[in-house]
Amino acid sequence: MDVYGIIGNPVEHSLSPPMHEAAFRERGIDAKYVTFEADPDRIEEAFRGAEALGIDGLTVTLPFKHDAFEFADPDVQIERVGAVNTIDFTESGPVGFNTDMTGTLRAFEHHDVDLEGARAVVVGAGGAARALAFGFEEAGADVQIANRTESKAHDLADEVPDATGHGLDELPGLMADADVVANATSVGLESDESVAPADAWHGDLVAFDAVYKPLETRFLQDAAAAGAQTIDGAWMLLFQGVDAFEIWTGEDAPLEAMNEALRDRLDDDSQQ
Ligand code: NAP
Repeated sequence: MDVYGIIGNPVEHSLSPPMHEAAFRERGIDAKYVTFEADPDRIEEAFRGAEALGIDGLTVTLPFKHDAFEFADPDVQIERVGAVNTIDFTESGPVGFNTDMTGTLRAFEHHDVDLEGARAVVVGAGGAARALAFGFEEAGADVQIANRTESKAHDLADEVPDATGHGLDELPGLMADADVVANATSVGLESDESVAPADAWHGDLVAFDAVYKPLETRFLQDAAAAGAQTIDGAWMLLFQGVDAFEIWTGEDAPLEAMNEALRDRLDDDSQQ
């Protein structure tokens, strides 16, 4: 039997186990997907232990994505992002990937949104914003970054080729000229707030929200009310898992089964 898992702290409420278990079941792969709540002071030992035990692959979540980057051998693309969320334990050693970044691009593709040449605004400058900003740049978009702490937007923009940093006060002006606006802040997480003013939305925008609790955030509701196309945060979560599954197994991921398992769990959680 193959063993995969998610390592983080906390991981108790992770949505990855039902999604990956559904994928293994659907493909008839004899594998288990386990949660590992690691001690932050012993994370390197935990990674080495997983390797020594013959674990096949790990999803890495907060707060260990930078530790995973230092542990696993990242490819050139990941080198710039500085975070690894997927480790493949291969015969030649652990290899690191950032499927938050590649998965988000697949989520846009899945919704027929072409990012090549698009004017994309990333709101936020934390971990999710990094994945989105580097991903959008990789896909050929013109990237603008707006963040509450403006200096952090400038710091991130300095790392992403041709990106520009801004304060949140500039967001309405950026939205007026944009094609895509992505919320990568935690605003709207289990609250009815949006980081974007409702009257800044227009029908030519595509709105993406990394927040997935609730699925229909205030940010996406305001966008939809103005006629914008919306993509919810579960798509990012889904496609980071899809990419990880394909890296680990070399097989096409069963998209529908994974999506159904993920959304069922989100539904159950929202009713609690
Ligand atoms: P993070 O590194 O802690 O960054 C948080 C960001 O939110 C910062 O830019 C912060 O601005 C901003 N922020 C927080 N409170 C704010 C407020 N009241 N007003 C304006 N900005 C505020 O967090 P993260 O890891 O990037 O995660 C961000 C969100 O994305 C979380 O809700 C997380 O659940 C979600 N996420 C989703 C996925 C997915 O697969 N869908 C993956 C990763 C993350 P400052 O710099 O000014 O503090």
